[in-house]
Amino acid sequence: MTPTWMAGQAKLVAIYDAPFWRQDGLSGDAMSQSGPLVEVHDASPAAGRPGALFGFLGVPASVRNANREALVSASLAQLGRLFGNRAEEPVKTVIKDWATEPETATDADQAFAMEHPSAEITGSIQSIWHGKVLFGASEMAPQFGGYMEGALEQAERVAQDLLGDTMGKTSRTPQERA
Ligand SMILES: Cc1cc2nc3c(=O)[nH]c(=O)nc-3n(C[C@H](O)[C@H](O)[C@H](O)COP(=O)(O)OP(=O)(O)OC[C@H]3O[C@@H](n4cnc5c(N)ncnc54)[C@H](O)[C@@H]3O)c2cc1C
Repeated sequence: MTPTWMAGQAKLVAIYDAPFWRQDGLSGDAMSQSGPLVEVHDASPAAGRPGALFGFLGVPASVRNANREALVSASLAQLGRLFGNRAEEPVKTVIKDWATEPETATDADQAFAMEHPSAEITGSIQSIWHGKVLFGASEMAPQFGGYMEGALEQAERVAQDLLGDTMGKTSRTPQERA
């Protein structure tokens, strides 16, 4: 079985009138070990407004559901330290917690995973049927397995294997894929 690894995760999104941090020359990206948000990114739409910062909550599901108010206020204080006082006063704050969604997260997903699991399945499954079965899932991607980027990476590999010549690239043979 290949773990999907993110089903127990949650994100906090802070929404502002505009992405004010850009005027200060800040990207909106941050990695932090001081506060609940372990990884923050600019989540503003391409149109530029409103502004939005999202952060992964590095807190186990049971803890983050115990006191939402404290979680939000600690997160906003952290955003303030990272991006200035204005970050502490969003128009709106939203928490998206997949651990509470039965269609997404199982009991096993409630355990907190800090590390990205390795897709150990890759080597063994790739060689079944002598490379004639193609797997387009992110978990099979050699570089970014388990991420959206991995889904794109693997989709391109499979498309190239199926349509290589029409894409102007050389397809791998089933033996090379196995
Ligand atoms: C809660 C959560 C949050 C995440 N957050 C991020 C993030 O912030 N950044 C990031 O990079 N990655 C994130 N990921 C990981 C990312 O979403 C996945 O790696 C990516 O979506 C995998 O893409 P995929 O195309 O391989 O598979 P999927 O997106 O799972 O697509 C597979 C599709 O196949 C369909 N399907 C399954 N069985 C059948 C069948 N028998 N017949 C027809 N269709 C079928 C499914 O319905 C599904 O639509 C997150 C994952 C989860 C669960």
